[in-house]
Amino acid sequence: MQKDIIVIGAGPAGFIAAGRGASQGASVTLLERNSRPGRKLLITGKGRCNFTNDTDVDGLVAGMPGNGKFLYSAFSRFDSYDLRAFFRELGVESKTERGKRVFPASGISMDVLRALVMYAKKSGARLKCNSTVKHVVARDGKVQGVIVSAVNGQAQFLRCDAVIIATGGITYKATGSTGDGFRMAKELGHNIVPPRASLIPLETIESWPRDVAGLTLRNVQATLMVDGCEVGSEFGEMLFTHFGVSGPIILSLSRAAASAMIHASPKIALEIDVKPALSHEQLDARILRDFQKHGGQTIYNSLVDLVPKHLIAIIVQEAGISPAKHVSQVTREERLLIGRTLKKLTFHVAGLRPTDEGIVTAGGVDVDEIDPSRMESRLVKGLFFAGEVIDIDGMTGGFNLQAAFSTGYIAGESAAEVR
Ligand SMILES: Cc1cc2nc3c(=O)[nH]c(=O)nc-3n(C[C@H](O)[C@H](O)[C@H](O)COP(=O)(O)OP(=O)(O)OC[C@H]3O[C@@H](n4cnc5c(N)ncnc54)[C@H](O)[C@@H]3O)c2cc1C
Repeated sequence: MQKDIIVIGAGPAGFIAAGRGASQGASVTLLERNSRPGRKLLITGKGRCNFTNDTDVDGLVAGMPGNGKFLYSAFSRFDSYDLRAFFRELGVESKTERGKRVFPASGISMDVLRALVMYAKKSGARLKCNSTVKHVVARDGKVQGVIVSAVNGQAQFLRCDAVIIATGGITYKATGSTGDGFRMAKELGHNIVPPRASLIPLETIESWPRDVAGLTLRNVQATLMVDGCEVGSEFGEMLFTHFGVSGPIILSLSRAAASAMIHASPKIALEIDVKPALSHEQLDARILRDFQKHGGQTIYNSLVDLVPKHLIAIIVQEAGISPAKHVSQVTREERLLIGRTLKKLTFHVAGLRPTDEGIVTAGGVDVDEIDPSRMESRLVKGLFFAGEVIDIDGMTGGFNLQAAFSTGYIAGESAAEVR
């Protein structure tokens, strides 16, 4: 007998779940609160959509520090290779960039969204926008349907055999992910691990990062220190902003910073090695060469080949030397100090940016209550979860979208079989 499935939320997880369920013969309705689907997907990867990471299943699991092991089945069933093939079939070729980040070859996230809309439609799923699901209804431990409120405010009960909750997390609320899925799952008896933002920019105590807002540093090594102990280190790109710091490596380290701040108020510092490819000795030799080359000039003018202009004044100031000093007057000790500052430019974290600015949500529906091979609730028959509503979260690099797609794929397939 044909199964009726309702999927709540037309983001990446909801689309693939709907399409997969329909392609397995189920009658699928995809309900979206917004007037248009996939609003968050469109802003991913700065509008370019880094939809997966070119790595194997173990690599995908490692990229999800938030309950990666729970995702082992899902990634094994539908991995990065499968996802790229899936999009290729829909006409979206992909390209791999630094850090094995995979993007559509066009570099346009809309192409990914269009492909998902086409997939769902071709499979026979119906997309209904302006439809906010208020509650999932279950009786005797089994799903009965959902209560939907349409744009005119009228509530309606829609009967179905299975519901897939794919409502996302609690950040970037303007895109539609307001945490409704957590509330609905809780009403049905699920434990919700307190949601919090992860991959979130950091505010700094020092004001100088704000003075160089807009400056991007590439190929640097950032190390996060909590109460004097190293808790993480990342190599890559970071950005100074009007509030502090952001960019891929800062976002990745922010997860550990956020965890450290949950129960305590630790002293958190970031140490930036601006020249990680050079040892202290090599760096000093390089500075000496530059000083000789620019003899008779100020320190400021003599470091332009080595350090971005805007950072020179900061480095020299942090080293306690006047940037206007002529290189001929710089002592060996001062030169070594400039080198040491470049290898360990330090500032302190005042806090996280507001939750809404988090790239992903950590916390959510407790993974102990979900069958990892089906994405079905262990408490309510016919209830499934997909994507960020689950207590999973990953690093930057395409892991979060891959997780949304893999869990959505399995949820759609399993919901179509529900007895
Ligand atoms: C700025 C930014 C950049 C990002 N870049 C990347 C990236 O490059 N790579 C990467 O892997 N990840 C990235 N992410 C994370 C990624 O976007 C999310 O992990 C992913 O979108 C989660 O997919 P989802 O389908 O679970 O939820 P969402 O994409 O949030 O979709 C949920 C949908 O459910 C709808 N909905 C919610 N409640 C209801 C309701 N009650 N009724 C009906 N509909 C409802 C919402 O309107 C929304 O359309 C980024 C996130 C942000 C904010």
